[in-house]
Amino acid sequence: MRHHLFAIILIAISGVPVEEAVAGGWCRSHELDSAMRQPILGTSSSCPPVGPCDLPGTRNLNLPDTSQPIIWIRSHVTVLRNSDGSSPAATANDVANSMNQLNADFLPARVQFVYDWGYYNNTTYRNLTSAEDNAMKCASAVKPDSTLNIWVTDIAEAGVLGYSYLPWSGNALQCTYGCVVEQTSSGGFGGARHVLTHEVGHALGLYHTFHGVDEVGQCSACYENPGDPDADNLGDFCADTRPTPTNFSCGDVGGSSPCNRKPWAPTDYLNYMGYASTTCQTHFSSQQMGRMRCWTQSTLYPWIMGVRMQADTTFGPSPLNVQFSGVASQTATSWAWKFGDGQTSVLQNPFHSYGPGYYSPEVTITTSPSGSYTSKRPGFISVYADTIAADSSGTTPGKPVRVDIVARNYLPLTAINIPFTWASTINAVLDSVRNGSRTAGWPIQTVQLDNTNKRRTYGFDFGTGGPQVVLPAGNGPVLSLWFRVPPTTPPGTVVPIEIISYGYQTPNMTCAAGNYPVVAKSGAIIACRAGDVNNDAVGPDIADLTYLISFLFLSGPPPPVWSQGNCDGLPGIDIGDLTALIDYLFISFSPLTCGS
Ligand SMILES: [Zn+2]
Repeated sequence: MRHHLFAIILIAISGVPVEEAVAGGWCRSHELDSAMRQPILGTSSSCPPVGPCDLPGTRNLNLPDTSQPIIWIRSHVTVLRNSDGSSPAATANDVANSMNQLNADFLPARVQFVYDWGYYNNTTYRNLTSAEDNAMKCASAVKPDSTLNIWVTDIAEAGVLGYSYLPWSGNALQCTYGCVVEQTSSGGFGGARHVLTHEVGHALGLYHTFHGVDEVGQCSACYENPGDPDADNLGDFCADTRPTPTNFSCGDVGGSSPCNRKPWAPTDYLNYMGYASTTCQTHFSSQQMGRMRCWTQSTLYPWIMGVRMQADTTFGPSPLNVQFSGVASQTATSWAWKFGDGQTSVLQNPFHSYGPGYYSPEVTITTSPSGSYTSKRPGFISVYADTIAADSSGTTPGKPVRVDIVARNYLPLTAINIPFTWASTINAVLDSVRNGSRTAGWPIQTVQLDNTNKRRTYGFDFGTGGPQVVLPAGNGPVLSLWFRVPPTTPPGTVVPIEIISYGYQTPNMTCAAGNYPVVAKSGAIIACRAGDVNNDAVGPDIADLTYLISFLFLSGPPPPVWSQGNCDGLPGIDIGDLTALIDYLFISFSPLTCGS
């Protein structure tokens, strides 16, 4: 089988006859998809994500590059004939040409199709109406639970070159799924070079490039305008295919969006998922290829030949114990797992325990007599042990003080929710809330305000309107809270700043795999007069320096208000605090910070 396959690829690369395009032909896939999803979505004017591969971060993990193994998809081509075996919709040569072209077009995506083919005799279906579509497919589909089915016949509806369902239509892996393409006119299905490529693009999870313009309500919330900063979450969910009206020409469309008045051009009219004559089409975009690899490995994975991995769990708190199983489509002579954390196994069904992090495991088999297959699942395993903590800061009563909220996350985040309270007997005032250093550029979302009980919830939706589509793993400030405590607050008073759960609010994070709870750690504002080590309400002065030296070196008593002996704001009282005090008194007069 594999030798045969490589021969097919070589033929594809070395060139196939150039076909004439059929001008003005169109595709019925969106009609099918919206009809299937109407009960779920209600209207066509909204565009909620329908699966993990719609999340830009997940899609981006699947962008093809040479480190990504080729995905081999099992497929079957059914050519319709009349009941007496006459008038085949395609010849053997047509099938070979079309599948060669398909494999050439999908090579940059590192997806290839291994196929066989056969005839199905039925005069009725030889001229196929949409009402007969499901019956024809279910009568003739070959192993639809593990095979991409492609049918070639005369589609009765004038102008329709093909149609396909999409992975979220609700019938993936069932007999009604797959692609139907118009019969041959001259050497390839649909009478043109890339019609099959377009339809398989749908089956693997692509919308039309004009989806966000002509297949949603005009200027609706889902409408994609030129230059829209949120193009990753609108239209075809790919930011690298610019929005365009339906365009049958091999060139840019003129005019501009009726909604934001920006010109459409330049558009990606060479894209396989548009309607330009297919002799004009040259490519899928990088993000389209990432989407197809992602949908194939999630919803459509039973189609994959060679080897694939399964796991009893993929998401949870650390340590996450995962029982993997390897499934091979032919006899494997050896197994080699890389778990993504540096560990390996040679078992077919290994057990592995993961610490916190985000992992892309990989499994390779060798088969007899020769050949090897690899499956890699980017970001397949998500393990959390994450925290949201309030820092502690010292302040002179009456002066503003900043308390940082610090997040430690091992997983790339799509969202974070931060409920906190500053309720205490001291009437601390929350003046403002600002971005932390890790969240620069993302809008702060006010989730809930409860000033009566001195508690609030802020959050971030990293998927929209920010510098990236996820917050990468890391550790550091995500919010800065600016407080004041009353000038009359006695030194040494501690005002707790707590990360809490209240009402429906909990401290949590969201990654591509789902939402999860985090460990919350509380901090405090410490009221103190910085550098007033001896607490005489004067200074900082020489007397304070003397007191601190005595404490540090001469076994003198500790500062009466501990936080005021802390002059550099760092935890503990040590030589650093002495240095800061000397610096303030004699050298640079830099302000002091008290603390714990
Ligand atoms: Zn289409």
